[in-house]
Amino acid sequence: MLLLVDLDGFSEINTFLGVANGDRLLTEAGQRIRRAVDPDRALVARLGEDEFGVLLGDADEVEAELVCEELRRSFVPPFLIGSTRAAVSIDIGVGLFPEHGSDLETVLGCASTALSRAKGEDQSSIQVYRSTLSATDTSRVEVVAELRDAIDADQLLVFYQPQADLLTQRVRGVEALLRWEHPERGLLTAGEFISHAERGGLGQELRRFVVQTAARQWLSWQALGLDLELAINLSPVDVLDPSLPDEIAETISRYDIPSWNVVLEITERTLIGDERRARAVAERLRRIGVRLSIDDFGTGYSSLASLRRFPIHQVKLDQSLFADVPGDEGAEAIVGGCIEIAHGLGARVVAEGIETRQQWRFAYAMGCDIAQGYLIGRPAPPEDLVALLDAPRLIPLSVA
Ligand code: C2E
Ligand code: MG
Ligand code: MG
Repeated sequence: MLLLVDLDGFSEINTFLGVANGDRLLTEAGQRIRRAVDPDRALVARLGEDEFGVLLGDADEVEAELVCEELRRSFVPPFLIGSTRAAVSIDIGVGLFPEHGSDLETVLGCASTALSRAKGEDQSSIQVYRSTLSATDTSRVEVVAELRDAIDADQLLVFYQPQADLLTQRVRGVEALLRWEHPERGLLTAGEFISHAERGGLGQELRRFVVQTAARQWLSWQALGLDLELAINLSPVDVLDPSLPDEIAETISRYDIPSWNVVLEITERTLIGDERRARAVAERLRRIGVRLSIDDFGTGYSSLASLRRFPIHQVKLDQSLFADVPGDEGAEAIVGGCIEIAHGLGARVVAEGIETRQQWRFAYAMGCDIAQGYLIGRPAPPEDLVALLDAPRLIPLSVA
């Protein structure tokens, strides 16, 4: 375990009390840190101006938290410098061996990322490094560079999640979901890297990859006698790209996919951006014959007025809407209202995040048309799906 401890507001102390007093405070801070840790196991060092490092080789996350708490407590009493009392709090960033890396340099980098996050908080804060590639990470540039190589190194994959017809209880389609088999971090889901890719200018390249891969996969399923609807996610940027309709038209004709088998999912966010441009692209897609679906509906972004102006074929109710149903009356009423709006617009309704039979029955009873979620199947590589796709009836879902 490696801790980086940073003193809050040290530069003000230097300014107001003078450099000599600043040095005295640093000496005392070092002593407090040393007293807070086990002297036989821990190595304490000053790494930078007001930054200390604590190395405790074999400690795990639980012990790390205890040590951090002890450190935080040791900084509660104010420092006495001459006749002035100065309150100094600390921020701590934590990196762990071997969870975050096998060498010092890597773990130091992780602890440092965690520390910058800790410093970003209002109060004194302790942060353990988390490998989610969140937008605030300084590593975004790195991720984009790695992604560029990942495309060439065949590390990108497309998983597919089945969607079932609530009436016939059979799988009628799949949604393509992007995955990155990262050599060190393991399998990353789309949510963990796609926004980086888009901001780094790789969005178009990833979209082409997904569209091509999924179309090829559709053809292999077709060869097995499976006639499936294929749903593909588009980012708001994709929907503003005037080359998108031609790219889709060209792909479906190359793989001989009937256009009505293709569903393009756009999120509510798309509708509130550059609506005029998005509508022009959507209109061209509609003329090709592919269907448009609104994803994550009900998460709060959509303007119902603009929804009406889009050629929408399907609405996917966000999984958060189903989290508390059946049971929570408020949640049930919201789902009911969303279904009514969607059907009123002439769209089919997909229930997302269906994990239990109760949710399935609820979605069916409320009038949803299609269900997607772990109950039917998790996103999986295509070879894992054939048995499920071919089943005469899904799971024994007695919808009595
Ligand atoms: P989405 O389109 O709403 O996809 C559904 C997400 O919910 C998937 O996460 C899926 O794994 C998860 N999910 C499905 N069923 C359940 C369930 O029953 N319970 C729970 N808890 N979760 C469930 P994933 O694969 O991480 O995708 C996240 C989002 O990333 C997607 O949300 C989609 O907006 C975006 N995305 C995925 N692939 C692509 C892509 O190729 N291009 C673009 N532009 N976006 C993509
Ligand atoms: Mg989707
Ligand atoms: Mg969704």
